[in-house]
Amino acid sequence: MQAFPAQALLKWFSAEQRPLPWREAYNPYEVWVSEIMLQQTRVEQMLPYYERFLQKFPSVEALAQADEQAVLKAWEGLGYYSRARNFHAAAKRVVERFGGKLPMRLDDLLELPGLGPYTAAAVASIAFNKNHAVVDGNVVRVLSRFFARAGEAKDFQETAQQILPKGRARAFNQALMELGALVCVPQQPLCGQCPLNGECVARKQGMQEEFPERATKKRRPTKVFAAACVREPLLGAGSRDGLWLVKGENKLLGGLWGFPLVPFKPLADAKETLEKRFDREFGVQLTLHKELGRAEHDYTHFHQVIVLFEASAEGRKLVLASEKELARLPLSKVNQKLLKLSGAAISRRS
Ligand code: SF4
Repeated sequence: MQAFPAQALLKWFSAEQRPLPWREAYNPYEVWVSEIMLQQTRVEQMLPYYERFLQKFPSVEALAQADEQAVLKAWEGLGYYSRARNFHAAAKRVVERFGGKLPMRLDDLLELPGLGPYTAAAVASIAFNKNHAVVDGNVVRVLSRFFARAGEAKDFQETAQQILPKGRARAFNQALMELGALVCVPQQPLCGQCPLNGECVARKQGMQEEFPERATKKRRPTKVFAAACVREPLLGAGSRDGLWLVKGENKLLGGLWGFPLVPFKPLADAKETLEKRFDREFGVQLTLHKELGRAEHDYTHFHQVIVLFEASAEGRKLVLASEKELARLPLSKVNQKLLKLSGAAISRRS
């Protein structure tokens, strides 16, 4: 195997690394928060959430004691809410089983909800400097180009473990990821600034852009839904209206609140069909009125389109959210877009 210039990479990292907050003290809880947030989100995007989350829940104990709705609220906007629910459950387990101290051993970390092999290895190496290699998309790109070898994360796991300098896992793993994020970028890598450029095989062959082989992207299916915007006067609140919201129970949005919605085939479904669907799903007889607009959102496996209808309900008391409650309830991003379309005069904290 081509020798890997680990020392040059470590030297580069010590000079060029971004000053990220969890790198100040490598507090295990802070590293854990960062790794969970980074699972589906880029560094620049997650930083404001990271700061806010730590202000709210500064320790494992504080997180374990928190109400799930408060945790989801702090996560609002980051998406992939199962991360927040698992993280909350894991914090409780750390308090119960490990006295509030995050365990150092990979096997113990792997038993915590939400920590798969990748995140457990990242936490063990970055928080505790344990000798476990971590291979994310950035690392795949760097190694694939350096060795001029096609493959995905699982194909580079062993190589990454072999080139890891023992006792330097914290710096080395982060250095590889950082190099992929800042220098060995997907298009037009900055090879002139790269500490690996003398030995990099793809560079020598002028084939940087051939690696890693691009997977043919599957097209995401589009799923269309109809949502109902029902406003009714709040009891004892004078002329003020409340908005009918329901609590999500599926894996995707469990614990979050949103507009009630049902599947919708715009070319085939008449309003009456939709009204029957709402009745079956929520036990509420609705009359749908005009369309208020549509909101779209990309999930990993599908593209979602929601058409929002103004609606009125009959015959059943609905759970209505007041303006104050709307500011407090955790809502997914697409529901925040719907809320804007609904015209509700709500000032929400971001
Ligand atoms: S020399 Fe270029 S292609 Fe090779 S690892 Fe460095 S940035 Fe990537």
